[in-house]
Amino acid sequence: MLRNKCVVCGNSYDKSFTITMGGMSYEFDSFECAIHKLAPECSNCQMRIIGHGVESDGRIFCGAHCARVKGSVDLTDRVDHIGIAQDH
Ligand SMILES: [Zn+2]
Ligand SMILES: [Zn+2]
Repeated sequence: MLRNKCVVCGNSYDKSFTITMGGMSYEFDSFECAIHKLAPECSNCQMRIIGHGVESDGRIFCGAHCARVKGSVDLTDRVDHIGIAQDH
């Protein structure tokens, strides 16, 4: 029985869940595996982006700070307006 098999680690788990992204569905047994598979990497610090990232010139960053480090000026976090910006 290979139902509910995690696409990352191969673990079969009855409480697994499915995430659909870009028209593809993936089965995971944990959020750790889901993040490993689907979360984009910051183009500056390589951190997995699990919150609101920022995109610039086709690259994605964990926050406006990293985007700025890579030369993308005039960029602010999308979450600025609700007051939880990561930029310091
Ligand atoms: Zn897994
Ligand atoms: Zn970063």
